[in-house]
Amino acid sequence: MSQRFYVNQPLDAGRLLLQGPEARHLAVVSRIRVGEGVVVFNGDGREWPARVVRIGKRDVELDLDPPREVSRELGFQLIVACPLPKGDRAHFLIEKLTELGVTAYIPLETRRSVIAVGESRVEKLQRYVMEASKQCGRNRLMEIRLPRTWVDLVADPGLPPRRWLGDAAGERIGADQPKDAVIAVGPEGGFTPEEVEAARTAGWTLVSLGPRTLRIETAALALAVLASSTG
Ligand code: SAM
Repeated sequence: MSQRFYVNQPLDAGRLLLQGPEARHLAVVSRIRVGEGVVVFNGDGREWPARVVRIGKRDVELDLDPPREVSRELGFQLIVACPLPKGDRAHFLIEKLTELGVTAYIPLETRRSVIAVGESRVEKLQRYVMEASKQCGRNRLMEIRLPRTWVDLVADPGLPPRRWLGDAAGERIGADQPKDAVIAVGPEGGFTPEEVEAARTAGWTLVSLGPRTLRIETAALALAVLASSTG
């Protein structure tokens, strides 16, 4: 796959001036030269094959071909809601969810979760999504939704009917049809018994990944794999 570069703007065939970190990435980090081919995308589902025509000190000029529609998406909706883990583990989580094709991530607030997700953190998460999409070839960005409390999310009628809550004491899940799904994973301290009961009442399935206690990101990723690759 050609090296991919992201711009947050509408695109057309023809000239494009790449600026800022993406221009630096192309010229300094990737050491791409004039005449070489790259791919540009903006998250609208298409990608633009392009050729480098000029490399300046602060910008890079590209010549974009007409776009092509290339989908590397799952083909159904997969939402993951879990508290944001601390430090580098947040980056790891968002990168891997993006690579796995998850369509939306919801920072989840529960009784025992500790990290509040403000606007600046959301922007950081969006940057992780963009970086992972450059690498894995997604032309649609995983959506970072606004933080939700568990009380608010658990009985939301707009969620897909397939609702999984990670719970070591839940049932083991086998092969099934891939379809829209929402996955909820608790914080380091786990869901409270009341939060689990609210999930049961609202029709969620308690899904176990075995008897070991997994970290937030391990449980979220394993459940995302299960929901995206079955059937
Ligand atoms: N001490 C907590 C407890 O016992 O619930 C540990 C919480 S764990 C670090 C964080 C979350 O990951 C849990 O709330 C649950 O949603 C999910 N999880 C951890 N291990 C799991 C397993 N074996 N199967 C399914 N989900 C799991």
